[in-house]
Amino acid sequence: MTDALVFDKVSHAYNGTFAVSDVSLDVKPGEVVCLLGPSGCGKTTVLRLAAGLEAPNAGEIRIGGNTVASQSRVLPPEKRQIGFVFQDYALFPHLSVLENVVFGLDGVAREDRRTRAMSFLERVGMERYAATYPHELSGGEQQRVALARALAPEPPVVLLDEPYSGLDARLRDSVRDEVLHILKQSDAAALLVTHDAEEAMFMANRIVVMKDGAVVQSGRPEVLWCRPQSAFVAAFFGDVNRFAGQVHEGSIITPFGPVPAPHLPEGSDAMVVVRPEALRLRMSNGQEQPQATVMQSRLLGRTSLIHLDVPDMALIGDDHIHARIPGLFLPQVGAGVSVDIDLDQAFAFAASGG
Ligand code: ADP
Repeated sequence: MTDALVFDKVSHAYNGTFAVSDVSLDVKPGEVVCLLGPSGCGKTTVLRLAAGLEAPNAGEIRIGGNTVASQSRVLPPEKRQIGFVFQDYALFPHLSVLENVVFGLDGVAREDRRTRAMSFLERVGMERYAATYPHELSGGEQQRVALARALAPEPPVVLLDEPYSGLDARLRDSVRDEVLHILKQSDAAALLVTHDAEEAMFMANRIVVMKDGAVVQSGRPEVLWCRPQSAFVAAFFGDVNRFAGQVHEGSIITPFGPVPAPHLPEGSDAMVVVRPEALRLRMSNGQEQPQATVMQSRLLGRTSLIHLDVPDMALIGDDHIHARIPGLFLPQVGAGVSVDIDLDQAFAFAASGG
C-alpha cells in the first residue's frame, strides 16, 4: 500500500533555529498517527510542513506517492488534497456555519452538498447552528465546525492540530469518538497533534513521540506504554515514581525488591521508573517491618490514589511516591504497608538517560 503521507528526514528552522530536525514518519490510508510531545517540541511545525504552510530546509515530504516538498519543489496547500484543522479554526466569518462546510465540497455534486454538510454538522453536534455565523459561536463550537469542514470532503489526508482543545471533557469524549469513526469510515490517513497521551492512545494506531524537534520513539500505543525506551517517554504517558539505584548483578535493588536491568552496565548509576498502578500494597500485619507509611488516601473514581512515605528510598524529583489501586481502597493516614512492584510496569534506565 502506498503511504498517504511520508516525511523523509525533514528539518525546518525558524530564523536559523531548528524547530524540527531529521524527522521521518509515514501515515497509511486508514491510519491515525499521533504526534505527541510537550509544548514547543515541534509538533505543529511538522503539521504546517505537511500542509504546505512552511517549506522544509532539508528532506522530502510525499503525499499519495507524489513529492509535495523538497529542495526543488514546494506545492501550495490547496494543491495537496488535505483537510486540516489548525488551532485558530479559521472559519470564514462572512459565511454561515452551513456555508462554511459546503464551501469545501466543490468535488461533490451541487445538489448533494447541503445534505453532506448537514450530515457532518450532525456528527459533531452542530446541526442546530447551521444558519449561525462564526462570531456568534464559542471557541469549542467553532472548533467543531472546523472539524466538520475539514472532514466533509473526505480528503485522503487529514491534519489535526489539538482538534479538541477547546472542548470540555465530556464533549471532547463524544467529539473525538465521532471523529475517530469518521476517519475510519473514510479511510483517511490522519496526522493528529496532541500533548495529551491519553488522547493519543484513544485516537492513534501509532504514536510518534517528539522532544526538542526530534522523534524519540514511535510505535503502536501498547508498545510505547509497555516498552518505553527512555524515562522521558515513560513519564510522558502519565504520573510515574522515579528512584535512583545502582546496577548489581543485572538488577537494581530497591526497598520493594530487585528490578531487572540486564541492559545496563554492572555498578552503573540507574533510574527506576514505576507507574503508580504497578505498585501493589499489603497492609502491615505487624509481623514484618512496613516498607512505607500512608500519607494520604483519595478516591479518584475508578481508582484510589495512595501517597506513601518511603524513608529508605532514593527518590528522584519528589519526596514521596504514589500507588494507584483499582476501586475503593482508602487506608488510614499513618498506616504501614508493604509494597510489591509489578515488574511489567517498572522500567530501568541509565541515570543520565532522558
Ligand atoms: P509544538 O507544536 O510542539 O508546541 P511548535 O512546532 O509550535 O511546537 O514550535 C517548535 C519551536 O519552534 C518552538 O521553539 C517555537 O517557539 C518555535 N516556533 C514555532 N513557530 C515559529 C515561528 N513562526 N517563528 C519562530 N519560531 C517559531
